[in-house]
Amino acid sequence: MHIIYGGTFDPIHNGHLRVAIELREMLGVNRIDLVPCHIPPHRGDPGGSSEHRLELLKLAVAEEPGLGVDDRELVRGGSSYTADTLRHLRDELGPDEPLVMVLGTDSFSGFDRWQEWSVIPELAHIILVSRPGPGLAPDSMPSRLLSERWVSDIALLHTAPAGCILEVEPPLLDISATGIRERLVTGRSARYLVPDAVLARIDELGLYGRNGNEHRG
Ligand code: ATP
Repeated sequence: MHIIYGGTFDPIHNGHLRVAIELREMLGVNRIDLVPCHIPPHRGDPGGSSEHRLELLKLAVAEEPGLGVDDRELVRGGSSYTADTLRHLRDELGPDEPLVMVLGTDSFSGFDRWQEWSVIPELAHIILVSRPGPGLAPDSMPSRLLSERWVSDIALLHTAPAGCILEVEPPLLDISATGIRERLVTGRSARYLVPDAVLARIDELGLYGRNGNEHRG
């Protein structure tokens, strides 16, 4: 089973890292790959460049052997369409290996605006992480897709290469990249929300409005 967890990671934070670890343990797999997108098609340009976001991600997972970074969307350049990423992974994995993509309910609520969204469940399973917020609109396409593809048993993900949607409710940290950027730009501390090594590098590089080499912690 191959599991990817995509995002802008602008920057990576402990909320992302914790949920990846929870899912890895829940699914009993050795590794989950974080896949940073180059140009996210559904939101504004990231505050951190692709190179910086990637560097911070690599620092964040360096101490955690069960998490990896897959930089294929950055290498590919242009808009990062998940359908393209999954097609490439499917070619590499062959037709039978289960492929799983993880996303939060906030991201899934706009799923039918994604490029070639209807192909995605043919290529991969989806693990939907419940996040606080408005949830799915009852008659929306994502909500219909969820009821068509919903499975309650995690074991089913091992029995088919793609096609199921599993909802999970792991313990979540109430952290968002938006909140981190706001703190950094206003000179407040983001300590314990972001790994120390990541925070130190943000300061060194002067990202997100930080003054270079100022270690405010
Ligand atoms: P932003 O605040 O800039 O929108 P974000 O913190 O939501 O960023 P993204 O990179 O957009 O981070 O998210 C990547 C994925 O991680 C999404 O599927 C999102 O739902 C999920 N995610 C983000 N924060 C958390 C968190 N604290 N716990 C669990 N999942 C999260």
